[in-house]
Amino acid sequence: MLSDFNIRATFVLFITTIIVLAAHKLGLMDTSFDINDGSPTTFVTSFAEGVANNQTFDEGTKITRNDALFSARCSIREISADASRCGVSVAIGYNSSLKKHELANGFDLSKYDHVEIDATLDSPNQNNRVRLSLRNYNENYSTPNDFASLKLNSLNYLPNKEFPSKRIEFNSFRVEDSWIKEGNISFEDSKVDFSNIAFIEFVTDDVNEVGDYWLQINKISFHGQLFNELALLQIIILFWLIAIIFLVARQSKKLQVISNTDALTGLLNRRGITDWSYKKGTNLQNRRKGFLFYFDIDGFKKVNDTHGHSVGDELLCELGNIVKGILAGNPNMQNNIGLSRLAGDEFVLIISRINKDEANHFAALILEKLSSPIVISKRLIKVGLSMGISSFDPSFDEFEDILSRADSAMYCAKRDGKNRFRVFDDHVRDAIYRRKQIALNIRLAAENNEFSMVYMPIFRAVDLYIHKVEVLLRCHSPALNGIGPDEFIPITEEFGVIQNIDLMVIETTFKHMHKNKQVFENSNIKVCINISAKELNNVSFTSSLETLLADYRINPAQIEFEITETSLVEIDEQSIKILNQIRDMGMSLALDDFGTGYTAFSHIVNYPIDCLKIDKSFIDDLTEKNEVKKTLVKSILAIASSFNLETVAEGIEKDEQFRILKELGCGSIQGYLLSKPISWIHFKALLEDQDGRGSIIKIAN
Ligand code: C2E
Ligand code: CA
Ligand code: CA
Repeated sequence: MLSDFNIRATFVLFITTIIVLAAHKLGLMDTSFDINDGSPTTFVTSFAEGVANNQTFDEGTKITRNDALFSARCSIREISADASRCGVSVAIGYNSSLKKHELANGFDLSKYDHVEIDATLDSPNQNNRVRLSLRNYNENYSTPNDFASLKLNSLNYLPNKEFPSKRIEFNSFRVEDSWIKEGNISFEDSKVDFSNIAFIEFVTDDVNEVGDYWLQINKISFHGQLFNELALLQIIILFWLIAIIFLVARQSKKLQVISNTDALTGLLNRRGITDWSYKKGTNLQNRRKGFLFYFDIDGFKKVNDTHGHSVGDELLCELGNIVKGILAGNPNMQNNIGLSRLAGDEFVLIISRINKDEANHFAALILEKLSSPIVISKRLIKVGLSMGISSFDPSFDEFEDILSRADSAMYCAKRDGKNRFRVFDDHVRDAIYRRKQIALNIRLAAENNEFSMVYMPIFRAVDLYIHKVEVLLRCHSPALNGIGPDEFIPITEEFGVIQNIDLMVIETTFKHMHKNKQVFENSNIKVCINISAKELNNVSFTSSLETLLADYRINPAQIEFEITETSLVEIDEQSIKILNQIRDMGMSLALDDFGTGYTAFSHIVNYPIDCLKIDKSFIDDLTEKNEVKKTLVKSILAIASSFNLETVAEGIEKDEQFRILKELGCGSIQGYLLSKPISWIHFKALLEDQDGRGSIIKIAN
């Protein structure tokens, strides 16, 4: 896209071109030089040669008659065989410091293209021609002070008394052969040359009759144009070329700035920071060690969803300003800074020439600054920030490697609880290595069919009747020994090892239910399946579910999906829509690990859920004496009941916990006290047993 400046510049150039061409056509670029009578630059001499008497002039005297500029009147009494002539020489470039006949540098007349003369010749037979010579001085072929050696650029013409004015084009002049021969002139020097004209000479030609010859020169003027048409066009084309090169260079520089700049914040973008780091890396002077900071806003999506995208955009700009403000307040951090927004809410800052303490100090300053809410569009917004930091040495490190290290450190900062920074070190490296190894082993386990399901019964608190069962994924690969689904499932998702592990679990469970239709129908048990928050952004999730329900003829009322409360932190309208669709299909939803997220109790009503699963952390130290915990659990149960939600308490390991929960009115319980996750065979036996007896008390496993 052309900038306004370029459009204006092109327009001005175009108009200027038109004006220049018009001025040229109108003759505004014409130039002329008039040889004036009495001009201080001219010296005139008239002469007669041959046998002449009654000469009416002295050599070196200007003779004027009838208002002519110059004239010569010669009475030729006898015709000489070799030379009979009468003429006028006008030395131009003459100045008073020169002695008579001393040769001066002439005038450059090459810029003119024609000469206009007004001359008459009275002669006995009235048809004598005149030779006009513009004599050129050049030290190659002319001898100083010798007029005869000057080049003869000449032409002959017949003066007309009635029309004495004559225009003579420069290209009709020729260098006289006799002069070339006499002076033994080289071919190069034998061409017409008007660059240093020292003399203008008018001489009668063909004087072959005795009598009076009267030569009168009334006007000599040279004319031309400052530029001829071709030269002018060449200049204009050259000018356009220079202008185009300038404008293109300017435009490409501008485009480069645009393509390296983030339009929203005005900071560098990914390409910009990569270029920046490359330039720093290749510029030896700037090759200083430094630190790269990679950070993003915790829960930025929530800010967008709650306050709108324009507030989100302002927040991003404000974060850029906060960082710039901190840098401005630290004089030793002001040089060699590259600040960029990579994408979304991800920022990268590079500071050269700082040490580790300064890097830590800078990171702490940002977090401290964000510890109080930011005012955006008259709203107070509180955000956290997770940051990964990596040191670098530009002589060795590639930008992408530094970025990847800082990214790993940021990942660890998030995993450790967000709103903190982490410097890349061996621990981060090991953690990342471990994740990569796990991802690799999961791929192998998937190839070797080493996944299976276990079943964890959920009991009604009042009568310990198993009315639900949670399906839990297991991997039997020895390489993944001790690594539970809570660790390997997020890694599987992150590395994309298994296309969609949730759908795999759902399909396996449905297949299993279909195969054991009788058992599930008789017990009327609800099967609880964990799904990751990712499915809430997956628009095809519900249609896949629909297909699976139909394929395996599953009664949707027997299915409950569990989503963790923390996943709701990032929930948006699209996610709520998916949750509603799941419920509309007849399935129910449970909010898993309730109490670990930040959901205000009053917000629960906004989510389409049927059941709250109270997290194990609330149950762990639930004792008769712990009034605080008891009150907390009691209020969760009260809220759930006011919203008509079922409740399940997770992780019951002790009788005391079970007793208290039952007393407080918790609906269902799940935990090692009653059953660990068990195989299908075991679980089926349990179901059959309880259907036979109505309920069970405790299952040994
Ligand atoms: P969760 O959904 O909270 O599942 C409950 C976890 O707590 C299970 O661990 C279960 O064995 C454990 N648990 C239950 N009662 C007790 C108890 O009394 N004491 C102790 N110490 N632990 C108890 P598990 O099977 O290792 O699963 C861990 C997490 O992995 C699950 O937490 C769930 O978030 C995830 N997960 C498991 N299977 C799947 C799956 O198929 N899909 C998805 N998306 N996530 C799954
Ligand atoms: Ca669960
Ligand atoms: Ca749970």
